[in-house]
Amino acid sequence: MNKQMTLQKLYEQYAQNHRLQSPDFAGRNFVPGDGNIDARLMFIGEAPGRFEDLQKRPFVGRAGQLLDKTIEALNMPRKKVFISNIVKFRPPNNRTPKPHEVTAFKELILKEIDLIDPEIICLLGATSTKALLGDDKRISQVRGNIFDLAGRKAVPIYHPAYLLRNPHAMPYFIGDLEKAIKLLDATNQ
Ligand code: URA
Repeated sequence: MNKQMTLQKLYEQYAQNHRLQSPDFAGRNFVPGDGNIDARLMFIGEAPGRFEDLQKRPFVGRAGQLLDKTIEALNMPRKKVFISNIVKFRPPNNRTPKPHEVTAFKELILKEIDLIDPEIICLLGATSTKALLGDDKRISQVRGNIFDLAGRKAVPIYHPAYLLRNPHAMPYFIGDLEKAIKLLDATNQ
């Protein structure tokens, strides 16, 4: 089975996994990861929002547009990267996913990372940073630093939705993204 089919099968299995369902997700669409399955750079966000749920694609709303525009300006167009979320269903009123929801979905994101096999992972915001690097990690303190995640380099960065509310933090976001992309260049040599 090729990589694309394996990934699709994985998503089909998890979309029907009762352990991941909850009354809070009733009627919501499963939003799988999206993008280049051979990407060297992978982004991991929190959970789909309204537009993501409707289109069944991650990061297609305002936060996604900001992410797209920023990486495009850094010569890393969206078609080159893979983007996914920890939690694959939209929580009610876009609330932060609950710890038990994050725990239930963690197995899937680890399998996605294994399969996509990126060199660098950008963790977008507090939820994915805590889920994958540990609950003690505060995004404002660890952003822009490099961590080991399953033998790969992971860089926590601000979530683009945070930047929509706090545009003054944009230079940190751009700087951290630049750093992550440079790490990629360094692994090329
Ligand atoms: N925020 C996320 O964390 N993920 C999305 O897909 C959209 C917004």
